[in-house]
Amino acid sequence: MDAKTKELLGIAQAFCLPVYRQRAMVLERGQGSRVWDTDGRQYIDFASGIAVCALGHADPGLVDALSEQARRLWHVSNVFHSEPPLRLAAELVAASGFAQQVFLCNSGAEANEAAIKLVRRHAADRGRSPERRVIVTARGSFHGRTLATVTATAQPGYQEGFEPLPGGFRYVDFNNLAQLQAAMAAGDVCAVLLEPVQGEGGVMPAAEGYLQGVRALCDAHGALLVLDEIQCGMGRTGPLFAHQADGVVPDVMTLAKALGAGFPIGAMLVGEAAANALPFGSHGTTFGGNPLAAAVARAALARIDSDAMRENVERQSRALRKGLAAINADTGVFNAIRGRGLMLGAVLAPAHAGRAGEVLDAAAAQGLLLLQAGPDVLRFVPALTIGDADVAGGLERLAVALRVLA
Ligand SMILES: *Cc1c(COP(=O)(O)O)cnc(C)c1O
Repeated sequence: MDAKTKELLGIAQAFCLPVYRQRAMVLERGQGSRVWDTDGRQYIDFASGIAVCALGHADPGLVDALSEQARRLWHVSNVFHSEPPLRLAAELVAASGFAQQVFLCNSGAEANEAAIKLVRRHAADRGRSPERRVIVTARGSFHGRTLATVTATAQPGYQEGFEPLPGGFRYVDFNNLAQLQAAMAAGDVCAVLLEPVQGEGGVMPAAEGYLQGVRALCDAHGALLVLDEIQCGMGRTGPLFAHQADGVVPDVMTLAKALGAGFPIGAMLVGEAAANALPFGSHGTTFGGNPLAAAVARAALARIDSDAMRENVERQSRALRKGLAAINADTGVFNAIRGRGLMLGAVLAPAHAGRAGEVLDAAAAQGLLLLQAGPDVLRFVPALTIGDADVAGGLERLAVALRVLA
């Protein structure tokens, strides 16, 4: 190991909160779907910064958008207007097909936090008392790490030790309409918040007809449907937004991750039913819609929302699925391969349960950046621009890494 690498890992150990468990390497430079570390080792990137770097690394168009904006104007706060966030808002409204208004922020948690506040305020404006402003979320979901969004995240592991948690949340099993119906029967639910494809919870797509059933229950009970597309949105599953494949229209949608393709930005999009629910002074954020972030997001949106991108997502999704199936035919290490587009999960067979982390270590040692989604699922979320050679190369490295399970 290089002296600099050693020094940097020492700093991590000494001075950083140990809330993450990074591998013992330091990434330094990226180009497309390739990344290099401080020891000069090269990796194929099947992680893209957790479904963030949709256009890969160092995309020239994004670099131009950022540097042009950097020379012009960095930040003015939301006390004043600047052009990039206004243009981005208009473009997101047009691309969404349902939204009328946009609130820009800096992260996924912040977008969901805004949505939680919005649906409560919307209910309050309709005369609902606080006990009748319950938000239903699904087990296995992930909505963020702030206190409210971690409470919305119906996974005890993320919540333990942070009690008292804010009230007004209720959990149901994902893809179970009967449970949701029961959970809404008392008429005290103001919103249902769901991921069309659960990401952290194991790459679990909504079953056919599920979201339509949820939409119908929301309509019957006067509840808003909030879709968290922070991970599955922005072209990752094929259509620009995952719910478009489910034939439903949400009232609110949250975005982050690939929205800035690597530059931090989040957004909440609001449709007609909840438009103007948050009036002047009711919410805000200093950095949200920062001109640098908005300029990059505009460039990313223009590129992602294209037939060329959709075609590549389909092509590489097929290649990845085929490659994973071939690996499985040889080894039997997977129980199932699921997901949509370039958001795929390979579920480890029961014999290898709990060993996803080991596979990730082995993959990194083979020059492959890979993610897990829980202890049993390998998660594949490469750049939407990844090419044939990198998919094939990554699969080869994965096949070698999987020998760790032998
Ligand atoms: C990552 C993620 C979040 C949280 O986003 P942050 O930017 O980390 O706050 C929320 N919801 C989903 C579905 C996510 O994947």
